[in-house]
Amino acid sequence: MSFDALKLANPATRALRAYDPGHDLPALRLEYGERLVELGSNETSLGASPRVAEAIAAALPDVYRYPDPKGASLKAALASTLGVGAEQIALGNGSHELLMLIAQCFADASTSVVFSQYGFAVFAIATAATGARPVRVPALPAGHPRAPLGHDLVAMAAAIEADTRLVYVANPNNPTGTWFDDAALDAFVAAVPPETIVVVDEAYAEYVTKPGVSSALRLVADHPNVVVTRTFSKAYALAGLRVGYAVGSPAVIAVLERLRESFNVNALALVAAQAALGDAGHARKIRDVTAQEREWLAAQLAARGLRCFPSQTNFILVDFATDAAVIEAKLFEHAVVVRPMAGYGLPTCLRISVGTRAESERLLEALP
Ligand code: PMP
Repeated sequence: MSFDALKLANPATRALRAYDPGHDLPALRLEYGERLVELGSNETSLGASPRVAEAIAAALPDVYRYPDPKGASLKAALASTLGVGAEQIALGNGSHELLMLIAQCFADASTSVVFSQYGFAVFAIATAATGARPVRVPALPAGHPRAPLGHDLVAMAAAIEADTRLVYVANPNNPTGTWFDDAALDAFVAAVPPETIVVVDEAYAEYVTKPGVSSALRLVADHPNVVVTRTFSKAYALAGLRVGYAVGSPAVIAVLERLRESFNVNALALVAAQAALGDAGHARKIRDVTAQEREWLAAQLAARGLRCFPSQTNFILVDFATDAAVIEAKLFEHAVVVRPMAGYGLPTCLRISVGTRAESERLLEALP
């Protein structure tokens, strides 16, 4: 049977594209070894805490057993770190899984889901998977002084209709790197009806250094419709292990717990995440070095006349004011991998992860 003849639960699936990082990275790693500079996936070049390898080694003999389906130990560690109850936390196979699961739990074909024009790509995919009507709210203009291409929270609140079950925001957002401050989020949450779930995707929250931009975790106690998603992939440098978590009201978390796969976070990932969480010094170092290298790289790029969008993440959106596919190809010739943005409708831009100083220098040397 052909793809077109398949009877899909949600016809919107047909228009989606399978995830494609643009290059065969495992093959490139074999080919180039250490010479490959991977700045395309917002990973942390500094690597994970050394405690992670120890924890994995200790857990390895037991991998013949299923993992703890409740993830109780990691949840307890997160609960005490974040100052919430363990019953307010759901674990996921990356936060991507949780973003999908939330849509599955709360949206269906008779509802709508609101997100921003340049909001994280998974928001649209999660919406399509449920058959819900996507409401893409135009982003702030590219010339906006504070958050160019960022979320227009006022317009997003206004776009909510009676059938809107879910609103996704990312703070900071990928791929724009933009953020919104506490006052803007407070006003937004106050404007959203209490029966609409607000997902605040904080995959990059640990990188934020701007004052007045704090986590939406502070809203969860008073707003049972607010759910915060976080990840160990970025600032804890565990992207390959796939661990994320959602924090929300006990009622919302109880719903996620009913539909999630029983063993969605594997045994090695559970102990690794807990070890990474316990090494606050390493996490601080990643945050501080990333902030310093981000500012250095942005200054170098700006000195070449390139427009860098303001970022509070571990990547920078850069506008080359020309067909960025040409720049990307040139960088690739020098074994430097970055992420094209044509799929987001930003064909003159590339998204470049903040790596080590040596990686940034390789990038700068390779730029035409
Ligand atoms: N949210 C945002 C904004 C992201 O950029 C990413 C990763 N690219 C994720 C969520 C998902 O990350 P993970 O599944 O690795 O936790």
